Amino acid sequence: MPIFKIYPSFKEKLPHVALGNVPTPVQKMKRLGEEIGAPHLYIKRDDVSGKPYGGNKVRKLEFLLGDALRNKTKYVLTFGCAGSNHALATGIYAKQLGIKSISILRPQPNAHYVRKNLLLSYFFGLELHQYPNKTLLYQGARWQRFRHLLKDGRLPYVIPVGGSSPLGTVGFVNAAFEIKEQVTNGEFPEPDYVYVASGTMGTATGLLLGFRAANMKTKVISVRVNDASRVNKGSMLKLLYDTNALLHSADSSFPIISFTEQDITIHQDFFGKEYALFTKEGAEAINRIEKSEGITLEGTYTGKTLAALIHDAGRRDWKDKAILFWNTYNSLDIVDTLDKLDYRKLPSSFHRYFEEAVQPLDK
Ligand SMILES: *Cc1c(COP(=O)(O)O)cnc(C)c1O
Repeated sequence: MPIFKIYPSFKEKLPHVALGNVPTPVQKMKRLGEEIGAPHLYIKRDDVSGKPYGGNKVRKLEFLLGDALRNKTKYVLTFGCAGSNHALATGIYAKQLGIKSISILRPQPNAHYVRKNLLLSYFFGLELHQYPNKTLLYQGARWQRFRHLLKDGRLPYVIPVGGSSPLGTVGFVNAAFEIKEQVTNGEFPEPDYVYVASGTMGTATGLLLGFRAANMKTKVISVRVNDASRVNKGSMLKLLYDTNALLHSADSSFPIISFTEQDITIHQDFFGKEYALFTKEGAEAINRIEKSEGITLEGTYTGKTLAALIHDAGRRDWKDKAILFWNTYNSLDIVDTLDKLDYRKLPSSFHRYFEEAVQPLDK
């Protein structure tokens, strides 16, 4: 961990368990870059951040599950939508550590990846619950915690939605220092802009704090893929301050940095109508990177983010700018027998994702 080298007392003060396969590579996207007028376009391969399951949640879980281990917990409980990559990643890595997991889920628009993540959740033994709305979800979560208290004599360790607590966000402060190391090693030029999907903001916020703490010029462009009530400058400022305070208290040589709304860029125009409802621009971006680079993205997060990047490339002069696209979506195929699993073994509230059509833009 680059931050453990620079701030040695983080290693004692912050809970951490190594799960990932880091540093993840950065590769040039030569063809796509030339096509869109960004000759110095790169991709951060967090899609292969860990085995068996990559994506951006692994970096957060190293700290969150490290804390769960310190608490000697038997169960973790977390939140998401039905196809949540976060809940799945939590369950897979918790299991590696001998901890069971509970996913408290909400409905979302149907997609192939929802089916896949639900079957994987079943395969890895996650305990799944779905509640139709926010109120019932909070009541359901309270009931499940209480039920486990009675059953196991202990409350489950709660991980917030997306893993975006200050502690989880530290994973991406570290990722910014990882980029700095890779730049120092001469692997690629210091990025002018990083484009990253923002759903619960931990990824973008950690990077923003990390680049500033590492004295880099890199600007983070957060592409909003969730409701504005969840992704906004006010909430991001709070997460910045809270994460910064946590790190400063763990090692006082970590600076306290002052941030204002001017330091934050949130791209608002590529969200579309609803969380996890794919957009035409996103679907086009997914096709484009598949054709030119052979890279597979998805429609909830990374497709919308690449659409924003391509849009901006057409309107700016990026001939001399280094642009880094952060691939936050797992690309590893982990279970080849998945299509042999029977969805009817899942709790019945999830069957509809297999019995109803996927959304039209999901091919
Ligand atoms: C969770 C997730 C994100 C969003 O990250 P946040 O830290 O929640 O903003 C982006 N991409 C993928 C594929 C994800 O699963």
